[in-house]
Amino acid sequence: MVTVDPKAGPKYIYRFTEGNAQMRELLGGKGANLAEMTNMGLHVPPGFTVTTEACMAYLASGKWPEGLEEDVEQHLRALESEMGKRLGEADDPLLVSVRSGAKFSMPGMMDTVLNLGLNDESVQGLAKQSGGDMRFALDSYRRFVQMFGKIVMDVPSETFEIKLDEYKKRKGQGAQDTDLDSADLEALLRDFRTIYREHVGVEFPQEPREQLRLAVEAVFKSWNGRRARDYRRQNKISDDLGTAVNVVAMVFGNRGMDSGTGVAFTRDPATGERISYGDYLPNAQGEDVVAGIRNTLRLQELADLDPKSYGELRQAMDTLERHYGDMCDIEFTIEKGKLWILQTRVGKRTAFAEWVIAYDMLEEGLVNEDEALLRVDANRLEQLFKPVIKAEVKASARSIAKGLNASPGAAVGRVVFSADEAEEQGQRGEPVILVRRETTPDDYHGMIRSQGILTSAGGTNSHAAVVARGEGIPAVCGADGIKIDLPSRSFSANGTTVGDGEFVTIDGFDGAVYVGRLELEESKLERARRGDESARKERIWKAFERFMGHADSARRLRVRANADTPEQARNARERGAEGIGLCRTEHMFLGEERVAAVRQMIFASTREEEEEAYAQLLPLQRDDFVGIFRAMDGLPVTVRLLDPPLHEFLPDLTSLAVEVALGKERGKDVSEQERVLTKVRELHEANPMLGLRGVRLGIVKVGLYAMQVRAILEAACLVQKEGGDPKVEIMIPLVATREELRQMREELEPVAREILNSEGVKLSHLEWGTMIEVPRAAVTAREIAEVAEFFSFGTNDLTQMGFGFSRDDIGKFLSMYEQRRLLPANPFVTIDRPGVGRLMRMASEEGRGANKELHLGICGEHGGDPASVAFCHEIGLDYVSCSPFRVETARLAAAQAALADATTSKRDV
Ligand code: PEP
Ligand code: MG
Repeated sequence: MVTVDPKAGPKYIYRFTEGNAQMRELLGGKGANLAEMTNMGLHVPPGFTVTTEACMAYLASGKWPEGLEEDVEQHLRALESEMGKRLGEADDPLLVSVRSGAKFSMPGMMDTVLNLGLNDESVQGLAKQSGGDMRFALDSYRRFVQMFGKIVMDVPSETFEIKLDEYKKRKGQGAQDTDLDSADLEALLRDFRTIYREHVGVEFPQEPREQLRLAVEAVFKSWNGRRARDYRRQNKISDDLGTAVNVVAMVFGNRGMDSGTGVAFTRDPATGERISYGDYLPNAQGEDVVAGIRNTLRLQELADLDPKSYGELRQAMDTLERHYGDMCDIEFTIEKGKLWILQTRVGKRTAFAEWVIAYDMLEEGLVNEDEALLRVDANRLEQLFKPVIKAEVKASARSIAKGLNASPGAAVGRVVFSADEAEEQGQRGEPVILVRRETTPDDYHGMIRSQGILTSAGGTNSHAAVVARGEGIPAVCGADGIKIDLPSRSFSANGTTVGDGEFVTIDGFDGAVYVGRLELEESKLERARRGDESARKERIWKAFERFMGHADSARRLRVRANADTPEQARNARERGAEGIGLCRTEHMFLGEERVAAVRQMIFASTREEEEEAYAQLLPLQRDDFVGIFRAMDGLPVTVRLLDPPLHEFLPDLTSLAVEVALGKERGKDVSEQERVLTKVRELHEANPMLGLRGVRLGIVKVGLYAMQVRAILEAACLVQKEGGDPKVEIMIPLVATREELRQMREELEPVAREILNSEGVKLSHLEWGTMIEVPRAAVTAREIAEVAEFFSFGTNDLTQMGFGFSRDDIGKFLSMYEQRRLLPANPFVTIDRPGVGRLMRMASEEGRGANKELHLGICGEHGGDPASVAFCHEIGLDYVSCSPFRVETARLAAAQAALADATTSKRDV
């Protein structure tokens, strides 16, 4: 949405009074909310927002878009006249902050510069403004040089930090930045300016308008910084959005002990409890809270320190929560006893808190049931079932340190001290715990590969805590009993030393840290789900029950599970599965007692030998089906006849060849192995995934599918005679032509009929259908539907063959594809709508066109992915089928798709 004045070109800048919360795309989340709060009458320092479009125009051309410079000047003048001060003026300076803010919040990913406008002269003016407080003015100036150097000019931040530490050390053991006096700060400032000159090659800029120009440009560029790009890739945020830049009049939290800065949440973002939650740091500026420079106070402690400001803050928190109808996260500063609100947004929260908050808000009447349901993220539902440390183990374990419970969940892993190691080992599948003093946005790539994160500094809103909560990674932060010694690659706590690679366990629910691998156990929700009475009293369970109940009444899609055994079927049914959408039968050809029969079936040279093998397999498979039909009594079970190539049931070619060669050399009798080797060689295919598998096996291996159909039907008859109600669907895999399916049915249906007749049983449901997993099948769905009663989309193979990407090997290049934006997401996780999705849509429409009664489902892995479930809803499938552990996710996602659909159609009317 570009607002174009035909004479003046696009409108690149909005005053806070001109925007509102709906303008996030153009003004970024921060800018839109600053405008909203200004217009609500909250105490927000004045300022303006440079739009995301200005950012994208700058990034596209590498130049300031035409007119922007004049616009900035004009808005700056207006701000100056509103404040009655000029930017950086010697006597009575206006200072500003320059803050990034994209449409979606990207915590810590992009940059802020505070105190802009300070120079050698205006620092005196600032001291004058603050009643001669030279210490405060110098502290603000050194912070500005530091931030400007780091963010705008890429001066390595440690160079400043090391220097600051030197000064603190000189003041004595345990001294903090607040212990530095004016003389120290003056000297520190000189050293900072020298650092700046050495790295940048020129003096620190003294001209305020040049400072502003460079800072705005740096924020624009930070959109394309590595950490911002990594964050966007991980969180599926488009690269095309750009960031807005907010230029805001400065207010100061570092003006003495009656000033300070903090972060407040209207509810606890970790547990969802309705308490004021947050951190406060007296005599400090914004970045100190998140950077973990000093240990923060709990927000409630502000009530004693400054009851008036605390009261005002509580009021602002209530107003904002009611206004946004959701939990808000607020940044504020108190300047000499006066409260300023610097930012708000709908607060990030753990999956756990998300459910509790939505439930409480529903009970409080703040949202209705549909809204509450749309508030919870189906993708994060699985996290609620995450393990905790086993209660008895925990009771007897001694923690070596205690930190803040920054992100829930227990985690066990090997200690690593750098993000690069965490990334490297994590990618190899090693469980790691990243241990750091604190994390920075540059550590993101390693954090997301860790099982858990442990920091020795920083509060509940430190970078580590915020990122961990967002990513669902357990974290313990600010465990200050931990002393990290990087040169010896170890840390010590309470007399224990833990080295690189040793196991530790962290408990993100209470902040405890343990040496070794503690045994973990189910989550509260998992316990409640299994019937534990005390767990069922928890709010999280009540929320879960109520929302899932509502989800079931709101959704149109049915949800089935992919389950191959009675155990899996029971698990799926407990989770709400309404049938089995895919029972793979390959495991029924594995296992000690079946090996000999399966080999005989493969090696058979006569029909008799083959029949003998089937006769051995039949009763075993019948028992398997009996268990499954009992577990799913009354619900449909789709059994897929054998799909994989036969060589999968024989030993690996290379190892067998080695075994034979070695055996011969050692003079052993290897005739049996040689016989098997000959057959393995015979069955070897260059492209087994495109080879003798699926329906082709059924055609070539006469009798195989008939044996399976016999086992299925005999089992169904047995269960029916017991008083059960088995509902049977027989599915032929990998069909590419109508004729394949027609001939198979012609061969197999008489087998079924004969059993039903001889057993005298009539089943309530017996259908024959096929998977649609080969592109040709999708394209010729009209013809295939004439001979099918159902289609089930096998989107694993359909994606594999649609793209020509091997589903087993895509890992080798997927990350490169994602980095280069060659794919928006892994197509084996989320359905590729324009390609594979189009095939599905076409097959559904054309299939139903030819056969009105045709049932449609999906049984590829996508059936448990919320975005793909939404697509299945959209194209009118009857059900999705997914792994038993994703059943709840799919039920919720199906309801959310239906509710979103209803909202859109209401809007369309
Ligand atoms: C599919 O291809 O999507 C499918 C469900 O079958 P399989 O994963 O067993 O190939
Ligand atoms: Mg398949």
